[in-house]
Amino acid sequence: MITVLKFGGTSVGSAEAIRRSAKIIAAGNGGRVAVVSAMSGVTNHLIQFLESDNARTDDALALLIKKHMDVANELLTGKLLKEFTKGFNERVDSLRDLLNDKGARSDPYFNDNISSQGERLSVLLLSYILMSMGRESVSLTSEEAGIYAAGPPGLGTADLQKTSAGLMMNVKPLILRGVIPVITGFYGRNEDGKPLTFGRGGSDYSAAVVANGLDADCLEIWTDVDGFMSADPRVVPEAIVIDEMNFGEAAELAYLGAKVLHPRTIEPVRMKHIPVKVKNSAKPERPGTLIHHLRAPKNEMLRSVAMKADLSIITVGSSEIAYRPRMVARIIDKIADAGVIVYAISTSLSTVALLIHNLDVKETLKHLNLLDPTDVERIDVKSNMALICAVGDDLLRRCGVSAEIFGAVFEAGANVELISEGASDVSLNFVVPTDMAIGVVKSLHRKFVGG
Ligand code: ASP
Ligand code: MG
Repeated sequence: MITVLKFGGTSVGSAEAIRRSAKIIAAGNGGRVAVVSAMSGVTNHLIQFLESDNARTDDALALLIKKHMDVANELLTGKLLKEFTKGFNERVDSLRDLLNDKGARSDPYFNDNISSQGERLSVLLLSYILMSMGRESVSLTSEEAGIYAAGPPGLGTADLQKTSAGLMMNVKPLILRGVIPVITGFYGRNEDGKPLTFGRGGSDYSAAVVANGLDADCLEIWTDVDGFMSADPRVVPEAIVIDEMNFGEAAELAYLGAKVLHPRTIEPVRMKHIPVKVKNSAKPERPGTLIHHLRAPKNEMLRSVAMKADLSIITVGSSEIAYRPRMVARIIDKIADAGVIVYAISTSLSTVALLIHNLDVKETLKHLNLLDPTDVERIDVKSNMALICAVGDDLLRRCGVSAEIFGAVFEAGANVELISEGASDVSLNFVVPTDMAIGVVKSLHRKFVGG
């Protein structure tokens, strides 16, 4: 039995939090593998350093040193403290060399290297704290563990096959010997052996990749909330924790609003049917959310309502688009050139409507304006829209569901601007003006989830 446990920044962010997390790791049976984020605030601090023109290396390092050494001095003593300090200082020294090396900055992956340094420090700390509790543990960087990645800077994707081979060689033997490996989240090594990050919040994805590669029996995501909720509790105070979801529901919700889990976390575990538990590291006795392959239907029409604000609808009008399939391709092509995420698409005889982030509008228009002017009649933009994502049991297979949902939207007084239904059988997504979105979420929740 192998369990992969992931701890986020807040779960290793202070002496108290990191001790609690170490206890959770040490408490269970079977093989245990931890995947860890940087201590909270550290990644932001490193990125701010990269963005600032006049930040001094020693000032940047001073904060990192204090944050980690304060915890070490509180939780470690004697030989372990001495050994930790030595290893820690070595890592800080090589980080200092890297920051002072002006030539290194021309490397396109330089920012990935720097922003992933916090993980290299946190794994060392957690590993020593496990040792201080009498457990055998080693910390491993992603390079040492064998997590392989490919892709552009800041946007890596794991190579699951190569990673599995790497983990089986470097990590599995440790588990079999009863050692607890503590592995850096957030990045893998690219084909040149250099760090490549998986995007902000990517440690959840790292943990799923490790669970996949080791054929783990369970992935536990330990975070600072109780699990997936039926709505954002800041919007709907009556929101409840969802005890059980299937992979599809969790993936849709993670993608469209709920910030509990990085959206890419589901795929690597879904492929191997590895169940995921999302739990609160500050309140481990709470049940959390179980995400797995087979969820018994519960006959609840809606399980959760999420929203994503600050979106815009771009409508491209062109005569008889429907009879000119190439035209749709050309429009999509321009959007792809702009490198923009499209949250929904809807077409009619002579228009294509696309939902994108407000911040991407300028870039998107720049590219759409390159289309042949004889092809395009007009381009309209409606900003400050919000996407509402209603996730439920087999939403599409049940008759009358949409009518009931839009009935509740009507009661909230909102006009629906765009609908995307049918692309996923667990969710119904639609767009309303942002200033109506909170009312719609509340109305849907009150009517279907209760509380
Ligand atoms: N430390 C990284 C970040 O802040 C990765 C993570 O927390 O998941 O984005
Ligand atoms: Mg996170």
